[in-house]
Formats: sequence, C-alpha cells, structure tokens
Amino acid sequence: MSENSPLPMRNAVRSVRDAGRTSVLVIGGGVNGISTFRDLALQGVDVVLVERGDFAGGASSASSHMIHGGVRYLENGEFRLVKESVQERNRLLRLAPHFVKPLETTIPIYSTFSGILSAPLRFLTHRSGKPQERGAALIKIGLTLYDTFSRDGGSVPRHRFLGRKKSLAELPSLDADVKYTATYFDASMHDPERLALDVLLDGLAANDSARALNYVEAVGRTADGVTLRDLETGEEFDVAADVVVNASGPWTDLTNAQLGQGTRFMGGTKGSHIVLDNPELLAATRGREIFFEHSDGRIVLIYPLKDRVLVGTTDIDADPSKPALCTEEEVDYFFDLIHHVFPTIDTDREQIVYRFAGIRPLPRHEDTAPGFVSRDYRVEVDRSQSTPIVSLVGGKWTTFRALGESLSTKVLEILGRGRTASTADRPIGGGRGFPTSDAERRAWIRAHLAGAGDRAEVLLARYGTRAAEVWAHIEQDHDAPLADGALSTRELAWMVEQEHVVHLRDVILRRTSLAFTGHASAQVIDELADALADLLDWDADRRHDEAAQMRQELGDRHGVALAS
Ligand SMILES: Cc1cc2nc3c(=O)[nH]c(=O)nc-3n(C[C@H](O)[C@H](O)[C@H](O)COP(=O)(O)OP(=O)(O)OC[C@H]3O[C@@H](n4cnc5c(N)ncnc54)[C@H](O)[C@@H]3O)c2cc1C
Repeated sequence: MSENSPLPMRNAVRSVRDAGRTSVLVIGGGVNGISTFRDLALQGVDVVLVERGDFAGGASSASSHMIHGGVRYLENGEFRLVKESVQERNRLLRLAPHFVKPLETTIPIYSTFSGILSAPLRFLTHRSGKPQERGAALIKIGLTLYDTFSRDGGSVPRHRFLGRKKSLAELPSLDADVKYTATYFDASMHDPERLALDVLLDGLAANDSARALNYVEAVGRTADGVTLRDLETGEEFDVAADVVVNASGPWTDLTNAQLGQGTRFMGGTKGSHIVLDNPELLAATRGREIFFEHSDGRIVLIYPLKDRVLVGTTDIDADPSKPALCTEEEVDYFFDLIHHVFPTIDTDREQIVYRFAGIRPLPRHEDTAPGFVSRDYRVEVDRSQSTPIVSLVGGKWTTFRALGESLSTKVLEILGRGRTASTADRPIGGGRGFPTSDAERRAWIRAHLAGAGDRAEVLLARYGTRAAEVWAHIEQDHDAPLADGALSTRELAWMVEQEHVVHLRDVILRRTSLAFTGHASAQVIDELADALADLLDWDADRRHDEAAQMRQELGDRHGVALAS
C-alpha cells in the first residue's frame, strides 16, 4: 500500500504510528471496547482503539439481537445483572430508538410445576447438571420479580398470563397442547453492527485525539506499550500507553498471551442462529418473540426480524482459537424446536438464507453447565509491568453502556483523573431526535429527506436521524442504484468516507443487512465490488479477490451457496 493510501483509515493508522504514544490503548472493537472508547473520549482522554477485523465483527455480530433484562438469570440468582440489564434496556429504548425497539415476548408453557424444585438449589449453588424444564409456577414467580425490576415507572407493561383457550386465540399456530402463555416486554436490536458503529462515531466526534483503527492487531508487548500490526500492509509499529485495556471478548486470554501474560479468565460457549425466509412462520409469530425451552431445558427463541425469522440459539463449550460455525446438527435442533412450538408449520433447509455463530465471552466455568454460567462481567487489573493491563471478563450487548462507564472509571482511577461527562442520558448516534410516532416520522421525513421518495424509510431505518447528513451527501452528485435499490453509489461513497469501510465484506455483512436477509447474490457481490473498486482505487486483482473472499466467507461461515 502506498504512502498516500486512498483509504482514510490507512491515513489514520499512519497518524497513530507517527504519534507513537497514547494515554489509553483499547484492544478490541466489539461493542464493549467501543463503549469504553466512547466513554474515555468523552472524558477528554487521549485514546486509541484497535480492532484486528472490522468493528463489531466478533461476538458482537453473533448475538440473538436482544436487549433484554435476562429473565432467566433470576434463576441463577444474578439480581445485580438483571437489575442493571433492565435499566439499560429501558435507557437504550430512549437513547437509541432507531435500533432498539420494544419487543413483545411470549413464553408457551406446557406444565404447571416442573423445574420449581431445582430452582432454589441453583440460587444457592450457581451450578447445575442438566437444566430442567420450567413450569408455569416458576415462570410466574420469575416474571413477577422481573416486573418489579423492569417497569421503568410504569412505562413498561406488566406481564400477562393466559390459559390455553386465550393463548390459542392470540397465537393460533401454537401447539394445541400448550397449557398457558406468559407475555412480557423486552427489546430487540435491529442492526447491532450499525449501533456499535454509532457509538464509535460518537466517541470519535467527542474528542480530536480519539482514534479508532480497524484491521489493526495487537501482537506484542513493549517496555511501555504494545506492538501493533496493520493487517492491510503487514507493517508493525510500537505505541506507548499509560494503560492498556484488553477488551478482546472471547479472545481475552489469547490476547493476554500475545502480550506475554498467562491468564485463564475466559470459558466461552458457542451459540448459533439461522435466519429463515418462511412467511408462514413469520405470520405465526404475530410480530412477537416466542421464547421458550426445548425438551432439554435450554432456552431458545423464534423471532421476527427484517421480514425474516431468526431462530437460535445453542450453548456449547468452545475453543476461541477455532472459527465458530453453525453445524448441521444445530440446524436439525432448530427445526426440531420450531416443530415443538408450531407443529403444523413446515420448515426446510432451502428456507435458510443465512447462518451465523459466535462465542460468548463468558468467564471460565469449570463444573457449571454452559446455560447457567454467569453472564455478569468483571475487570481484572495486572500491574506487574510499567503499563498496567486492564482485562474485561464477560459483558453482554445489553449492558454495554454501563460496562463502558465502569471500565472507563477504573482506567480513570489508574490515570488519577476524574470523570467529567456521563453517557447516562446521552442519545446515541442517529437516535438523537429520532421521530417515534407516525406523525413525527412523516414530519421529520418532510423536513430532512424531501426528494428521497421511497428511500426515505430505508435511510431512516439504516441511519436514524443521521439519514439527514447521508441524504445531503447523496444529493450533491450523480447517484445510481446498487443492489436492486437497497443501496446507491453515493450512499456507498458515504460509507467509505464516514464509516471506515475497508473491505467488501464490511458493506455486505455489517454496514447493511444484505447478507442477513439473504440478498447477497453473486450479482450483488460483483456490483458492489465494482463500485468499491472505483471508490477505493482497487486494481483488477484486488477487486477479484474481494469478491472471491466474500463468496467464500458467505459459503464457509454463513451457509450461503453462490455460483462463482
Ligand atoms: C450466540 C450469542 C448470542 C448472544 N445473544 C445476546 C443477546 O441477545 N443479548 C445480549 O445482550 N448479548 C448477547 N450475546 C452476548 C454479546 O453478543 C457479547 O457478550 C458482546 O457482543 C461482547 O462484546 P465484546 O466487545 O466484549 O466482544 P467482541 O464483540 O467479541 O469484541 C472483541 C473484539 O476483539 C477483537 N480482537 C481480538 N483479539 C485482538 C487483538 N489481538 N488485537 C485487536 N483486536 C482483537 C476481535 O476481533 C473482536 O472484534 C450473545 C452472544 C452470542 C455469541
């Protein structure tokens, strides 16, 4: 790569290399590293974040897309976590309403008392062998407790319990053997990768000395900092830091090993999902998440999202040094559980438009069954060398804001600095001034997206109120549709200039939902590769490699078979 790279990010890499030092270096650009980065940037701290892949491309891209209190963690006695999670859920509904939406959730229940005897044992011991099926009585107790944590001064409705007849009237495709349903509210997250990007962009906007680099890996330790490798050019350079934050999720121990620290903090478990194009199943959910337990006692979900149905998840001990893949056995398991709840609805592999899997960054759990490992997070500080390393252990999507605040507070303590700004009431990215009622929405579109026609809704959904800046950019020059109108040349140029796009896969997998919804056809890949080649000055070989790598990644990691 030339010294005057056309990629803005490469220039940013050069500026970090040339500066050679920062106050805080955050390793890992998943949502938790990004949230910590934003919080530190807001305090005026000189901070650099490095991510070896694309932002939010690790565990943060593999979630069930739920911002939830975690009703079932009550059973593990994790009251602190549940309380913080519901508070953060309610907060994100306000601060990021463009991506976090209320989600009516229904649990179908087949027995009255099952599981209730084993629950107190779990409260006491935090461990379990095989999970037990949870009956109506236990779920009722759990949801009553959840209501007390969850209601946000009454703005979140209480749960409701219905008997068989009323349940089937509301959800007629449910298994007719259902005894009750319990329905409550949580929240869904529509574009996790875009939400993470919004948090990152807010951090960058907050502070000129804050810099974030994707495709840059931390590969070693120096006397006063870390050696970084630019994975685009292969170039290595050292950056000195007062504090290093290791927020590399399931890879935290592996990163510490690269930094010369032997830690055994992590014990991640793999979870997979499939995305189905099945209109009958989509209709059967009636817009709700169906959240239930399979006969093996594991919690699973069937969930409408972007006109598709998301089905997950599994919980299997995993080795983070190997790629996490959704296996054929897991697909059989998912089909089995769909039939358990909706026995008359047909499913087959042809309906799967996308598969994905990731490793949860859970703490090491020895003899606790994967489904019952603590989902709470903690911070470990190593001061054995002149630059302390602060490692994050655990941390869900739901609690990213609170976690970023608490990790940043720990770093400020080490730096001997105070807190000067709070994220508690700060809207996130395109959630700022986001119109929530239909009337507000129409008025906002008239005021900011006049002339955008049918694209107005797409832009508002993709960027929140940032759509106004995107549209102003699109309007400045000739624009042509891409990907059957899902994108356009000027919008792609915006993503390249403003959203840290380095590879074709960043656009197809994370800046848009093209892959998630099954719209990443061979033709779309070629079209976008051509458009990016123009924007990023790729030669014919690079353009060819980008398209080939995209097809391979879709096939190997996401079960999408495309003709080459
Ligand atoms: C199957 C599944 C379902 C889930 N469902 C939910 C849910 O519904 N709701 C919820 O709240 N949570 C959910 N979670 C949990 C949540 O997704 C994760 O806990 C969260 O995203 C973790 O974010 P993170 O930033 O800590 O880690 P990650 O997102 O994994 O980020 C760590 C980053 O560090 C980078 N990295 C690693 N080593 C290096 C290095 N040496 N140099 C530079 N970068 C490096 C990686 O590339 C990675 O991007 C789920 C997780 C999984 C796997």
